[in-house]
Amino acid sequence: MRDFLTANYHTHTVRCRHAYDPEREYIETAIKMGIKKLGFSDHIPCPFTDGYVSGIRMTMEQAPEYVSTIRTLAEEYKDDIKIFVGFEAEYIPAFHEKQMAMFRKLGCDYLIMGQHFLNSEETGPYTGTPTEDESRIREYADSVIEGMKTGHFKYLAHPDLINYQGLDSVYDWEMTRLCKALKEMDIPLEINILGISEKKHYPTERFWRIPAEIGNKVILGLDAHCAKQLANVECYKKAVELVDKYNLNLIDELPGM
Ligand SMILES: [Zn+2]
Ligand SMILES: [Zn+2]
Repeated sequence: MRDFLTANYHTHTVRCRHAYDPEREYIETAIKMGIKKLGFSDHIPCPFTDGYVSGIRMTMEQAPEYVSTIRTLAEEYKDDIKIFVGFEAEYIPAFHEKQMAMFRKLGCDYLIMGQHFLNSEETGPYTGTPTEDESRIREYADSVIEGMKTGHFKYLAHPDLINYQGLDSVYDWEMTRLCKALKEMDIPLEINILGISEKKHYPTERFWRIPAEIGNKVILGLDAHCAKQLANVECYKKAVELVDKYNLNLIDELPGM
């Protein structure tokens, strides 16, 4: 077994209002842990049109400072670690075009999809809220597949965030459909190590036996919201146990990154 991740593409910053520590501490922790590639993927800002201000993400106005701060640090640390900058983003059709325009203007490196909401967070619901309503898991699968078809996302963070607690037959049908579509598009699924650390409802074996069968590519993500999460060896080992138990097709790095 390896000792730790060599690449982590799921890292937040204080700008999302629920993460801590200066970026420099994240970077120095990553270097100390032997991580060779570190991607910052803070929660993407949304172009709200009614003056709403999110409590869980930066504003559109903050994005240039975010990107330039990470770029400056990337240059400073370039001999020790390769640093990328991008966003963890929901695919929300009403926001997507404007977010992509911002992404291109700022010259970002990548997006990962984290489908925390299917619509604006103003109206909710959060996809991690427990539900027995099967329309919610169906819409989750539909929106993830539709978003992935844009080709804009490098992987799907915590695919098992959707917290459908109803029939196994419904869960298996919708998640199999999702996994097959992503396999066809060659898009990896993330085992979210923060979920293990914080004992969230994901990662769940209810989900991971499905990509095991379908043969999806799987990647680990620390989803760091503070620097010390970049050194969470204990939960990394639990993620590797899950990989081994289901003989998942683990990749260490994203192609070309
Ligand atoms: Zn977060
Ligand atoms: Zn997330």
